[in-house]
Amino acid sequence: MTGKELQEELTWKFPHIAKEAPEQVEEAAAFCEGYKAFLDEGKTERECVKKAVELLKAAGYAEFDTQDSYQPGDKVYYVNRNKAIIATTFGEKSVKEGIRMNGAHIDSPRLDLKPSPVYEKDDMALFKTHYYGGIRKYQWATIPLAMHGVIIKKNGEMVELNLGEKPGDPVFCITDLLPHLSAEQNERKLKDGIKGEELNIVIGSIPYTDDEVKEPVKLMALKLMNEQFGITEKDFLRAEVEFVPAHKASDVGFDRSMVGAYGQDDRICAYTALMAEIDTKNPTYTTMTILTDKEEIGSEGNTGLNSNYVGDYITYLAELEGVNPKEVFRNTICLSSDVNAAYDPTFASVYDPLNSSYVNKGCVLTKYTGARGKSGSNDASAELMAKVIGIMEKEGVYWQIGELGAVDVGGGTIAKFVASMNIDVVDLGVPILSMHAPFELASKLDVLNTYRAFKAFYKN
Ligand code: MN
Ligand code: MN
Repeated sequence: MTGKELQEELTWKFPHIAKEAPEQVEEAAAFCEGYKAFLDEGKTERECVKKAVELLKAAGYAEFDTQDSYQPGDKVYYVNRNKAIIATTFGEKSVKEGIRMNGAHIDSPRLDLKPSPVYEKDDMALFKTHYYGGIRKYQWATIPLAMHGVIIKKNGEMVELNLGEKPGDPVFCITDLLPHLSAEQNERKLKDGIKGEELNIVIGSIPYTDDEVKEPVKLMALKLMNEQFGITEKDFLRAEVEFVPAHKASDVGFDRSMVGAYGQDDRICAYTALMAEIDTKNPTYTTMTILTDKEEIGSEGNTGLNSNYVGDYITYLAELEGVNPKEVFRNTICLSSDVNAAYDPTFASVYDPLNSSYVNKGCVLTKYTGARGKSGSNDASAELMAKVIGIMEKEGVYWQIGELGAVDVGGGTIAKFVASMNIDVVDLGVPILSMHAPFELASKLDVLNTYRAFKAFYKN
């Protein structure tokens, strides 16, 4: 045996999809047209839930009713407080045999308004913000921002805000210094390039013309908001208002091989999971596709995975069949579907090249997250790795493995909260460049193969 033959037999490298299956390039581009539209329509968790309900209803899903009875093949959805949603296709086997669960998150890093946000300083009107999730603050200055969210008026009426998205809409922004005057700011550490209390959004500069009033520019901004949305300053106390990048999802590169957009972490898994769920007909095992909230701030709150809502839903499914929910939990397997950091040639030193994920090599199976000795991590068992790898290889899915950055650099996902319900869970998702930035990058081939992985998972 030659050394080359022996090498082929004993070593392993994940292939580049475009080299091994170039016919997928076109298919991936077509699939990502729907994905880009989903990104543009869902820039907050509420908007994603709304869009998901629309897509599910169109595909024949009905609202879940705990008192109803269901047959294999039936499709239902359940909405949790307008910010999280679970979709299910009932399987042929009893839920006692376990559920095929897939959880992605639909919240993304952004700038939330503080409860009392409006102020005037030196003839400018501005909003105070408190950022949500892990952002590199300097990236959020001098880019066009759009306003999204809801305000509940005193009479209970909900006003939905969406300004800065349509052609012709005004946009908003955070200012930064010009190079000529930034000598002092340049000495700051990069993390303080723009500080938290400097993330102030410009909303107006024209005063209300009455010499008697103090803060006439703020008054003018409030007058315009009142005309447009029927709200007053006090209404911000009953609100969730979010500022997100105003730009639309775009193709990136001469070859259009990548999608560049805001919020791909983790709507990239949410969309692929939702499409796989919808395309699954008559599965063997009952499916649960979860699009959840609050992952970016530690899965806290009653719409995040560290709440009982997912466990309660499983209990409802068990009770429908008169099965002990504990058996369902124990036999369920879950993909915690979230993005991973793609190897970036410009910043190679933070990656272990042997254990990184790469764009165009398929979805990433991540055995464990966490950092510094795997702390704060779910560490999937060898048995579960074997099961999931077996399913993907059976269905010809392109996949790879990846750690989130080198040892002592990484972070976490919803996996550990799923594991605490006594469910087998492993992370699987899409490699992303510039994760958490206002404009994140992902490969279309990886998006397609993540959809295929989810479809294979629901089928087997
Ligand atoms: Mn994520
Ligand atoms: Mn994230």
